Amino acid sequence: MQNHGQTPPAARAGPCFRPISVVITSFCNPLEAPLLSQDPPALSIVVPAYNEEEVLPQFHARLAAALTGIGLTWEVVYVNDGSKDGTLAVMLGLQAQDQRVSLLNLSRNFGKEIALTAGLDHARGTEAVVVIDADLQDPPEVIPDLIAAWRQGSDIAYAQRNTRAGETWLKKATASAFYRLMQRISGKVQLPPDTGDFRLMSRRALDALLKLREQHRFMKGLFAWIGFPAIAVRYDRAPRAAGTTKWNYWKLWNFSLEGITSFTVAPLKIATYIGLITAIGALLYLAQLIFRTIFFGNPVAGYPSLLAVTLFLGGVQMMMLGIIGEYLGRIFNETKGRPLYLVERYLPGDKA
Ligand code: UDP
Ligand code: MG
Repeated sequence: MQNHGQTPPAARAGPCFRPISVVITSFCNPLEAPLLSQDPPALSIVVPAYNEEEVLPQFHARLAAALTGIGLTWEVVYVNDGSKDGTLAVMLGLQAQDQRVSLLNLSRNFGKEIALTAGLDHARGTEAVVVIDADLQDPPEVIPDLIAAWRQGSDIAYAQRNTRAGETWLKKATASAFYRLMQRISGKVQLPPDTGDFRLMSRRALDALLKLREQHRFMKGLFAWIGFPAIAVRYDRAPRAAGTTKWNYWKLWNFSLEGITSFTVAPLKIATYIGLITAIGALLYLAQLIFRTIFFGNPVAGYPSLLAVTLFLGGVQMMMLGIIGEYLGRIFNETKGRPLYLVERYLPGDKA
């Protein structure tokens, strides 16, 4: 596309511009016009990618090799999530070589969860869709196993890790603590442990998932929320093949917050109970004060304890306000009703 940022596509496209809900694409340039395949593929593989130029060619080769002989027509939807390196060029190159490659270029970096949603929105697979990371931590060779599990009648076949090779003990420990916490608070919706986004979903499960349009997308939670018969397929998680992880502990912390706040309002209840406990404590303290004053007189003392109590209560109140703020901020973001993402261009593969 010859849009170097000056002219918005809408202004350029004139009467041919067709805004389709969240998709802003000009179809006037014949080079950009989606060549709609006569028969859509049975299976879509959705791959979000951010700065993955090093690993993508290798990924595609392994994916194509793994999918030979599965007995399904397929497409792979590469979502370029506003990469700063040559990821888009690599994707265009792959598409030139392989007609099964569909390409979705987002207008900027939106983050993995949204890039994934964008890819799922554009998946044409009529039977099923597979979600997989580009960095080869999820081995494409597991996909035939997922397909086999799905063929046995489950709507969802999720890949469950045996090991987390190449990750630090701290990451493993924090991840396991997070899963345990989520397990306890998520109630009716159960998150399977040691499971990432790598999974296969039937078309009806995908359609159900796509109905959930919230801005704060904790995908693991959304996957679990839709329900449907699901089965685990064990695999060994590999270390990243190339490039670096986009995660750090601050992101991980925010991710956990996202998970908790999008799943449960339990933290809001904590405020009620802390308030209750403090009030009971204060009553007991008062009773003890009255008792002491009546029987032993009242030597003026207690400034340190007064200060301690004031500071403690101030801290607790600030914390509770913060928790309410977390929820309020999310309500604020949801009420704006913005589209989840904007598409710079969508180039579907012309044949499955
Ligand atoms: N990713 C993305 N947008 C982002 C960050 C990551 O699309 O803003 C993609 C990334 O290219 C990879 C997948 O999401 O395919 C998982 O990212 P990463 O490997 O950094 O996460 P980790 O495996 O450490 O959880
Ligand atoms: Mg990774």
